[in-house]
Amino acid sequence: MPRAMIQPVFRFAPSPNGYLHLGHALSALIDFEMARAAGGRFLLRIEDIDATRCRPEFEAAIYEDVAWLGIAWEQPVRRQSEHLDAYRDALSRLDALGLIYPSFETRAEIARLVAEREKAARWPRDPDGAPLYPGTAKHLPAEERARRIGSGEPYALRLDMNAATTRTGTLTWAEAGDADQTHETIVAQPEAWGDVVLARKETPTSYHLSVVVDDALQGVTHVVRGQDLLPSTSVHRDLQALLGLPAPVYHHHRLILDKDGHKLSKSTQATALRELRAQGMTPADIRRAVGLASNP
Ligand code: GLU
Repeated sequence: MPRAMIQPVFRFAPSPNGYLHLGHALSALIDFEMARAAGGRFLLRIEDIDATRCRPEFEAAIYEDVAWLGIAWEQPVRRQSEHLDAYRDALSRLDALGLIYPSFETRAEIARLVAEREKAARWPRDPDGAPLYPGTAKHLPAEERARRIGSGEPYALRLDMNAATTRTGTLTWAEAGDADQTHETIVAQPEAWGDVVLARKETPTSYHLSVVVDDALQGVTHVVRGQDLLPSTSVHRDLQALLGLPAPVYHHHRLILDKDGHKLSKSTQATALRELRAQGMTPADIRRAVGLASNP
């Protein structure tokens, strides 16, 4: 390979908070096959920042299930819980730019603030359907913030989205098509998320922040994941621009839905790969079940 040509890097990044299901199988298989077709490297990353929901037995099951599908990944595997310093460092860079602030409301308090505002007009929701944070803590005086943090109050660190998008200007990303080499340019809309949480007192990071930091640190050039995460890519592009990180190419693939049209859940046993394996299904059966051709 000529020196100037960068070898593509793909990654599959599940969270060990339940057993992988058919939707993960589709994602991992599309990802792995795109990596192979591009002559790329393939990484597995364990996204285990949520200590209350992640469990070692789920992580062990991820390795077992992914290998069973015929997918091979590079060692060592990056486990996010072992890299909290990297995320802290990114947060302090955003802090130095004056782009984050602490908010102290509980979820119930936010719901109450939103209900109050909804008496006047419908309050906007983020792409996941949650009401946008009303921004109440954005203008708290510095001394009050310091005092409340010092007294041990729980808090979330939020991105000041207006300030962030003013700084970055309009951002786009390249979305790779299904089978061909075409790319579509998508305009990012991070403002649809409002002042997203980037960290909490007890967890110094969040999905958005750690995914962006890790993709850059691992040299990921191609992010392949489900369509449900497409709206999050807007936030990721924003963070990449703020932190001076490169933007990968993205491919958001179709989802596997249950008979009611809902996205599969890790809590449903029926579609868990280990359950299907125990019932005698083979990796070839799984490929068929998720609508992939039998020969990669
Ligand atoms: N950890 C995320 C999940 O399990 C996926 C993150 C990503 O691929 O960007 O849904």
